[in-house]
Amino acid sequence: MENPDGARRTRPRATAVEEHLNATPEHPSLALVATVRSRLGQPRDELGDAPSLTAWLTRHDLPPATDPDPVDVGEFRALREAAYRLLADVTAGRAPADADVELVNRCAAHAPPAVSLVAEPDGVRRVRERPTPAQALGLVARDLVDLVGGPRRDRLHQCEAEVCGTFFVDTSRAGRRRWCSSATCGNRVRVAAHRDRAAGP
Ligand SMILES: [Zn+2]
Repeated sequence: MENPDGARRTRPRATAVEEHLNATPEHPSLALVATVRSRLGQPRDELGDAPSLTAWLTRHDLPPATDPDPVDVGEFRALREAAYRLLADVTAGRAPADADVELVNRCAAHAPPAVSLVAEPDGVRRVRERPTPAQALGLVARDLVDLVGGPRRDRLHQCEAEVCGTFFVDTSRAGRRRWCSSATCGNRVRVAAHRDRAAGP
């Protein structure tokens, strides 16, 4: 078939879900760990119940096929805490606890939701079924497995802001990023430093 734009036009088009993921190269496993805010200060848990889990999944392009129940909430929170300890261990060059590795592996063993192709006038489109809560748990755990078991592991860091505790992937060219977010933690640290200087010795 003639195509004036050449090969580019016939490339599979991303679904809305994947376009968003590409725009924000955030790891859902790190986002899950970050649902405890101020972890090293006065922690605040944002995954307290099933509706907050549904909202979190939806915000991270994993809108669930069925509503999560309190057991699902418990599993996500268990994965989150194992992930935090695992990240702390691997970024410090320590061996992680067997129980944490086993929990992550058990979660990652959930089969992912089905994907399929839909024919389009100019090519095909990839469609992913909405995950069940267990499948969503599996996707988040797989993300962690790929992250700590892959080449980006060397770019994993814990935010240097005192109370934060969040982990992030430093994608900057120089590799000297210090904060999970320069707009929040970075800004807080800068403001505090300014205050200290203004207060004088
Ligand atoms: Zn931070």
